[in-house]
Amino acid sequence: MNISLCKFFINQQINLIQNLRHLSSAINNQLAEPQFGLLFDIDGVLTRGRKLLPYTRDAFRNLVKANGEFRIPTLFVTNAGNELRLSKAAKLTQILGISKISGHQLQYTTIVGKPSEVTFYHAEYLISRHAHELGLKQPIKRLYVVGDNPDTDVYGANVYNRYLQRRSLSRVNQIVSQTTIGTLTSSGKNISGKNLWSSSNSAEPAADNIEQYYTAESLESILVCTGVFNRETYDETLGKNHGHRDMFIDAELRKPKHTCEHVLDAVKLIFDIEQFR
Ligand SMILES: [Mg+2]
Repeated sequence: MNISLCKFFINQQINLIQNLRHLSSAINNQLAEPQFGLLFDIDGVLTRGRKLLPYTRDAFRNLVKANGEFRIPTLFVTNAGNELRLSKAAKLTQILGISKISGHQLQYTTIVGKPSEVTFYHAEYLISRHAHELGLKQPIKRLYVVGDNPDTDVYGANVYNRYLQRRSLSRVNQIVSQTTIGTLTSSGKNISGKNLWSSSNSAEPAADNIEQYYTAESLESILVCTGVFNRETYDETLGKNHGHRDMFIDAELRKPKHTCEHVLDAVKLIFDIEQFR
């Protein structure tokens, strides 16, 4: 066999290996379950008034399967009143061609919606429920909030993220101390999040251990520029623009983890962070 023929076969083999690698990583990405959930504000992110914003449809094409079912646990969080909230969700379902926008609409609780910590606590629970409805087996570890308002969406996300950091740390400490004294209990195993729904074969997750719904370790805020936030005019030292009058605003907490032009960029960014395709 002459040298050029040898080179040809070697190159052919290298190409074949590279193609197989690409194929295998594509299959892995396809098979990989998302361990993250998405929370979308509606006004200024997906819609403006009655109109769907540009890029909303494209953003959601990434989130749903061909049959209109979500691939990723998703929730819509809005401060709009009950009737408006339900009609908005129904309208979005229709416009975006989603078979079911979410099994459980976010309840409008206490004095405010966002940025109240209670709202995000409830949202974390609903995201886990949605993950279960979608048949996902892995616990949801990371949450992302996409919003247009630094005083509600971003502030609320950052406050809740601080809470999640404290909670994760205290869980780690709890497990470490339980291991140290050699009494790792079954609840300790649940906290580690390995067997999210294993205690029940029914359609519902086990109701006796509410901890199973609360598996998130972080919540990142993504601010989009299609609503009240404007890069040119926004003054981050002012904290009273759009927030609730009874909430004390800490300027540091109004800074988003990421800023994107629009919702499609936000979804692409999340997919990059998660290496999800
Ligand atoms: Mg908004």
